[in-house]
Amino acid sequence: MDIHHALKQYFGYDAFREGQETLIHSLLEGRDTLGIMPTGAGKSLCFQIPALLMEGITLVISPLISLMKDQVKALNEAGIHAAFLNSSLTAAQYYKALRLASQGQYKIIYVAPERLLTEEFQEFALHTEISMVAVDEAHCVSQWGQDFRPSYLKIVEFIRFLPKRPVLGAFTATATKEVRDDIIDILMLREPTVLTTGFDRPNLYFSTQSPKDPYATMKHFIETHPGDSGIIYCLTRKTVEEVCDRLHRDGFSVTRYHAGLSDRERRLNQDEFIYDQAQLMVATNAFGMGIDKSNVRFVIHYNMPKNMESYYQEAGRAGRDGEPADCLLLYRGQDVVTNQFFIDHNQDNEELDPVTRRIVMERDRERLKKMTYYCFTNDCLRSYILRYFGEYGPNYCGNCSNCLTQFETVDVTGEAQAIAGTVAWCRGRYGTNVILETVRGANTAKIRRYGLEESPFYGKQMQTPMPKLRQILNHLVLEGYLFVTNDEYALVKLTEKSRELLAGEQTVQMKMAKELERPAREKTKRRAGSAAAAGLGFTKIEEDLFMSLRNLRTELARKEHVPPYIVFSDKTLTHMCVVKPQTQEEMMTVSGVGEHKYKKYGEAFLACIRRELGTKTV
Ligand code: ADP
Ligand code: MG
Ligand code: ZN
Repeated sequence: MDIHHALKQYFGYDAFREGQETLIHSLLEGRDTLGIMPTGAGKSLCFQIPALLMEGITLVISPLISLMKDQVKALNEAGIHAAFLNSSLTAAQYYKALRLASQGQYKIIYVAPERLLTEEFQEFALHTEISMVAVDEAHCVSQWGQDFRPSYLKIVEFIRFLPKRPVLGAFTATATKEVRDDIIDILMLREPTVLTTGFDRPNLYFSTQSPKDPYATMKHFIETHPGDSGIIYCLTRKTVEEVCDRLHRDGFSVTRYHAGLSDRERRLNQDEFIYDQAQLMVATNAFGMGIDKSNVRFVIHYNMPKNMESYYQEAGRAGRDGEPADCLLLYRGQDVVTNQFFIDHNQDNEELDPVTRRIVMERDRERLKKMTYYCFTNDCLRSYILRYFGEYGPNYCGNCSNCLTQFETVDVTGEAQAIAGTVAWCRGRYGTNVILETVRGANTAKIRRYGLEESPFYGKQMQTPMPKLRQILNHLVLEGYLFVTNDEYALVKLTEKSRELLAGEQTVQMKMAKELERPAREKTKRRAGSAAAAGLGFTKIEEDLFMSLRNLRTELARKEHVPPYIVFSDKTLTHMCVVKPQTQEEMMTVSGVGEHKYKKYGEAFLACIRRELGTKTV
């Protein structure tokens, strides 16, 4: 069987995505391979297809039990024999799985890294032909990565122990050079094929807002996306509880996740979300690692996260199926303070010596700043993200809130001079709030204590609203007219450029959103429950069909005890609505309908389509 045939027969897809073929060929030729692709790009197929075509079995190393379970379920649904070995199995189940594996029952075995060096497993490995070891989430070997796992270091030792060295594949979504080099060195890849695909996720729509009432904004968003599965990230457990309660009281189907819940409750809630029994998941950043749910249609950040790495990782959990999805970030000034507090009281840092700790803190503050700028920039958000990760970003993407907002260029020289003037007058001894309160002429105890009423700029910008002044100050920092120190005091200081401004040799222009102008996309209220369906401009009939297919999927998934997106992805359902297949042959042309899936579910979906269209078109 060739790789295209395997892609169609098992996974039901017609074409490979960027990078997949290269990686698959490389592994099949027996070369070590490192694939760096963003979340949702389709890394799993890159080792699963070679695994099918090679003699012997493939071991997949994966850090999380939930990830393994999910992928093994998906493989079995596609008609591929696979199993997992980890601590979620009882001893009896574990030995049974190992015995079946020795008998050659499985083509692919997922195994937790801490199992590799156990006696039973080594015994098994010695007597089995292992042709490939695929290391998923390979950044876990690196201390530079976000989720270093010491047990990943056992992989090399295990491979050394094997009588014949299998081909090694490593896959990750983390692109930084340190992590990439670590993966190659620590896993000892031999002259590997290294392939990095772009980090852009064109199907994600990015937007930022700083609303007066974040809850109301969020609620409105959810109401205009009925039935769509979404994650809401909050900074603290307390906020998770509050937001979840409130949504619940407002009648939404919602569950929650944070480190303060028992293991049992976390697992139950996670399953409720994955199985589409709860539409919304409200969570801290503890949620999501290892969640492969492909039909998450939106991710809302109810607070600003601590850095762009976290943001892109969390937001990236939307739209893994490649269909349109929304990433909305709501922020307020308090988020910066909360994050700052986390940085200053970071528990993970306790083992560090004081010098390293300082360096880490400084780096974290710098990252937080860049996150803040993302919230304030008026330029294309996608470009901002791509540039942050060291890629080229176009100036206009047409699919973010800034690209779709009408801006006007405003002269803010007067405001800028007052702000910079105050900084000069107090010789850079104060933070943002004190500076802004001075130019607005606030009468607070602090202002009086510092004697700031004496400043020539005191009250100079009394007429300008605080949020606007804050925007201008941020703009001055972004443009290098001012800078904010990286220590815990965050003092505002002058730069070379500010001296020109103060000398009156410079005017400052900035882009500001036109009053009352709302992004075109948010104005159109959606009828269909799915962002995907809305993006395609479905007719009423197609929208209804989509809803019926989605209901059928839920019903079948419940019977099979698998998450609905494992039966068929949202993408497959939308494609069905476009193709409107009437026969097996037509159904098999739908993306995501492979042979095995057709046998299992094809008739039921055909019947549903005939029923829906039969009553409506005639
Ligand atoms: P990653 O591990 O890179 O985050 P996954 O392997 O989980 O991504 O794949 C994400 C989704 O993309 C899955 O639903 C998968 O079935 C789908 N997918 C992968 N390759 C293709 C392809 N060639 N055509 C269509 N869909 C694909
Ligand atoms: Mg993956
Ligand atoms: Zn854009």
